[in-house]
Amino acid sequence: MQLANVGVRNLQPYQAGKPIEELERELGIRDIIKLASNENPLGLSSKVRAALQDTLAGLARYPDANGFYLKSKLAKKFALDTAQITLGNGSNDVLELIARTFVNAEHEVIYSQHAFVVYPLVTQAIGAKGVAVPARDYGHDLDAMLAAITAKTRMIFIANPNNPTGTFLTTEAIAAFLAKVPENVLIVLDEAYSEYVSEAERAPSFRWVQQYPNLVVSRTFSKAYGLAGLRAGYMVSHPAIADLMNRARQPFNMNSLSLRAAEVALDDDDYLQQSVAVNEAGMQQLVNFCEQHGLPYIPSRGNFLTIEVGENAGEIYQQLLHAGIIVRPVAGYELPRHLRVSIGLPEENEAFIQAMKEIIANLC
Ligand code: PMP
Repeated sequence: MQLANVGVRNLQPYQAGKPIEELERELGIRDIIKLASNENPLGLSSKVRAALQDTLAGLARYPDANGFYLKSKLAKKFALDTAQITLGNGSNDVLELIARTFVNAEHEVIYSQHAFVVYPLVTQAIGAKGVAVPARDYGHDLDAMLAAITAKTRMIFIANPNNPTGTFLTTEAIAAFLAKVPENVLIVLDEAYSEYVSEAERAPSFRWVQQYPNLVVSRTFSKAYGLAGLRAGYMVSHPAIADLMNRARQPFNMNSLSLRAAEVALDDDDYLQQSVAVNEAGMQQLVNFCEQHGLPYIPSRGNFLTIEVGENAGEIYQQLLHAGIIVRPVAGYELPRHLRVSIGLPEENEAFIQAMKEIIANLC
C-alpha cells in the first residue's frame, strides 16, 4: 500500500499470540499454562476487583482526562510534582508518545540489539532511523551506545532490567552513562520491571530526573502490580517534557477502570510484596532446574528467565505448547537458541520443568 509512510510499510507486524481459548480449541488441550508475556501469576487482587466493581456505575461518563487522583497518588508516593507525570494506556503508550513528541524522520534512535520490540516499532513508525547497538553479555553495552551517538541522535532507549534478556545495569553504570550523554539527546529509562529489583539496588531514577532534564523514566502497572489487561503506565520527566507529551497525547488515554485500578494497586503494598516473593521463589525454581540440567540461562532481574535451549528452540517451543505450556520464542530478538519463560505460580513452574525434562530426554 503505497499510501502509508515508508517507516510503517517497512514494519513487521507485532507477533501477538492467538487467544488462549483459541489455542486450547485448536490443540484440544484444556487449561494451557501461559508463561509467555511476563504477566503477574497472582491475578487481580480482591481490592482491585472491588474497586472495579464500584467503578462500573460511572462508565457512561468519560474518564478524568488528567488522571487527577492517580497522578496525586504517584506524586505523593514517589515525592514528585504532578507536573512531572504523563499517564498512558500501558507504558507502551508513553513510549510511543515520547517518540511521537520528540522524534522525526530526520533523527536516529539508539537501542540495544536485544531491545524490547516496541522501541524499533515506534522509531520506524515515525520514519526515523533505528540504530541497534550490539549487546555485551546479552545486556546493554553503554560504551558502545555512547559511541553510536551522532549529530542526528535524538533518543536512546534503555530498559533496566531489560526484556527479553533480564540483564540489569547497576546504579553506578547508569549514573556514569547519564553524565556523558549530550543534553540534546533524550534518554528513555524503561523500568517496567523495577519493582522486582531490591530497593537497595534500584536506581534513584526519579531523583535523577531533577538533575538531567533529558532523562525520562517509564514504569508500568502491568508487571508487579498485576494490571496488564487494564493498561496502565506512566512516565516521569522534567515538567517541560511532560507538558509537551500531555499536549500530544489523546485526552482519554487511560480509561476509568484503569485509572481506578492503578490508584488502588499503588496503595496495595501486601500485593506488591507477594508478587516479588512469588517471583523470587519461582525464579529460584527455574534456575535450579537449569543448573541441574546444564542448561545455560541469562541471569535475570525481571519476572522471566531466558534459557538457552539450543538450536532446537523452535521445536522445543512447539513441544511445550503441545504439552499445554506456552512460552515465548525470542528468535525475533536475535536470540534464536533461547526461549523466554515467565515466572508463574509454583505449580505452573513445576509443570514447565516436568514438560522440559521429558522433551530434553526425548531429544537426546
Ligand atoms: N517495557 C518493557 C521492557 C516491557 O517488557 C514491557 C512489557 N512487556 C513494556 C515496557 C510495556 O508494558 P505495558 O505496555 O504493559 O506497560
